[in-house]
Amino acid sequence: MRIDVVSIFPEYLAPLELSLIGKARQDGILDLHVHDLRSFTTDRHRTVDDTPYGGGAGMVMKPEPWSQALAAVAEARPGHRGKPVLIVPSPAGERFTQALAHELAGEEHLAFACGRYEGIDERVIEWAGEHFDVRPVSLGDYVLNGGEVAVLAMVEAVGRLLPGVVGNPESLVEESHSDGLLEYPVYTKPAVWRDREVPAVLLSGNHGKIAQWRRHEQFRRTSERRPDLLEAFDAGKLPRADRSALQELGYDIVDGRPVRRPGKAESAG
Ligand code: SAM
Repeated sequence: MRIDVVSIFPEYLAPLELSLIGKARQDGILDLHVHDLRSFTTDRHRTVDDTPYGGGAGMVMKPEPWSQALAAVAEARPGHRGKPVLIVPSPAGERFTQALAHELAGEEHLAFACGRYEGIDERVIEWAGEHFDVRPVSLGDYVLNGGEVAVLAMVEAVGRLLPGVVGNPESLVEESHSDGLLEYPVYTKPAVWRDREVPAVLLSGNHGKIAQWRRHEQFRRTSERRPDLLEAFDAGKLPRADRSALQELGYDIVDGRPVRRPGKAESAG
């Protein structure tokens, strides 16, 4: 996969040289390029921002350096077919999810346009549609100073889904959000640490019981921490053990979705 990132702070992306993503770059799985937006300016001060039309606080990123930078990125894609995807990090974008990470992991070429100040002149986003499949994407419902942190998160989430990046691909299967639920709690040695014991079932060697316990913990955790996920979970074709786990936690399955029984206190599991 090729990834291009445009930013006024290219150094901000330095962590993408580390750890699994850094290794994926060395191994040729990820061909990642970071571009300095200021190198696409033409004035002496390398200006990238100006005051907003209509007044108001803050500055807006000027369209011309962005169009130059994005045109260069759109051209730099040997052998690729179709339009690359341009992710524009923005608190006003669609929410970044594991499902979107999977979708983006199937692309040949991703580009990221890191906004700063009050964001990028909207006409750039419209114009970019001629060259890219443009997607404004939000990391969450809060405001960051710039798109770089969002890009670090998105590149890591997408990059680790590429074949060969994570050593054991099975570890991707049971993770939080891979099946719409949060992951179960995990433990390692020693079996007793500061008087706290690892749940006995995990030491039992009974793989069926361990799987059942883990599934129950997934439901319990999701119910406690992210009831919105559990209510959206497709429970239509669940095996009997999963249905009873949900029942125990105070949920009935109505039209294929878990629905909390009114007044039922949540079980500690
Ligand atoms: N005025 C903008 C608004 O209210 O929608 C916020 C601008 S923010 C200070 C500057 C830049 O940070 C944005 O252009 C975007 O690139 C990035 N950013 C801020 N919050 C973000 C979020 N939740 N997700 C993704 N990017 C974000």
